[in-house]
Amino acid sequence: MVDLQAQYLRIKQDIDTGIQQVIDSAAFIKGQKVTDFQAHLEAYTGAKHVIPVGNGTDALQIALMGLGLQPGDEVITPTFTFIATAEVVALLGLTPVVVDVDWNTMNMDVESVRRAITPRTKAIVPVHLFGQCANMEAIMALAKEHHLYVVEDACQAIGARYTFSDGTTRQAGTIGHIGCTSFFPSKNLGCYGDGGAIFTNDDELAAKMRAIANHGMVVRYHHDMIGVNSRLDSIQAAVLDAKLPHLDEYIAARQKAAVYYDQAFADNERLLIPGRQAHSTHVFHQYTLRVVGANRDALREQLAERGIPAMIYYPVPLHQQKAYIDSRYKEGDFPVAEKLAACVLSLPMHTELDEEQLAYITSNVLEWVNSNC
Ligand SMILES: *Cc1c(COP(=O)(O)O)cnc(C)c1O
Repeated sequence: MVDLQAQYLRIKQDIDTGIQQVIDSAAFIKGQKVTDFQAHLEAYTGAKHVIPVGNGTDALQIALMGLGLQPGDEVITPTFTFIATAEVVALLGLTPVVVDVDWNTMNMDVESVRRAITPRTKAIVPVHLFGQCANMEAIMALAKEHHLYVVEDACQAIGARYTFSDGTTRQAGTIGHIGCTSFFPSKNLGCYGDGGAIFTNDDELAAKMRAIANHGMVVRYHHDMIGVNSRLDSIQAAVLDAKLPHLDEYIAARQKAAVYYDQAFADNERLLIPGRQAHSTHVFHQYTLRVVGANRDALREQLAERGIPAMIYYPVPLHQQKAYIDSRYKEGDFPVAEKLAACVLSLPMHTELDEEQLAYITSNVLEWVNSNC
């Protein structure tokens, strides 16, 4: 699904030098590399504050803690996504309220959000799934109307750009009150271990979240609030600082592979290519087909036999996960998410795909569809 080795070899010198500098300085925690990377990521994203943390899940948790939400407060999130979003809501004693997604873009459906708002709703957490922004203009308007916070889960979408109807452009993660991202190795900007970051333009929130990520501490050994221990370590920051200047090339390489896939499958009625969200670029963390009127799992098996990995992101919506079963929800309540879970198939997507590999993948997919449908 990903080829991190080839990507490393192209910038080996920079990465090795950065890691060596950390070892030589012995500043493994809160070292200069972390400060440098933070500044470079602020410049890249346009976020006023970047707060480096231990991983993307922590970023989401610290964001919700920073907003001061109380047990029983409701947080709206899509049911078709990775578990982390609802997990941190549940861990904090907040109430996850899930909503359905749009069939074409697979992102949060705004009308479903509107219907899910109650007097207890405090925040909306849109997920920019697979690398393109949710409908942020409508989500921000809805949030403003109902005095809600918006925390963007931009773990899959760093570098995606959203254009508002007045022409202003913002990066994924810098539109809501807070944005969160992950540097998990296979993410679009990945380190060599765990890492994450929080974005905000709000000075007060930034100071509070920075303290929460550091045991609730502002002055050393004085704890003003309950916090956690979550930091990006210096070695990971060195890797990220070497990769950040290449992020736009990485995105372009993914987009090029996506265009190849799009063209190969455009005319096939069994393979629906990913729908594009109006006003957002797509950075293709995943290239996800919807396989309709054909046996998705059989196709996946056949591809595996030919040495082509294909993955199902995500096979079970949140409201059907064992740990999150809730009497408020039953099968059929979120028909689009349930249908997607049964038909999505993500193809190999990374920065190193060449035409030969893409031709091999697409011809095998098409051969199976043509001989089995
Ligand atoms: C990867 C991911 C996360 C969690 O990030 P980690 O760094 O693995 O904790 C959260 N949300 C989404 C949508 C993700 O893809």
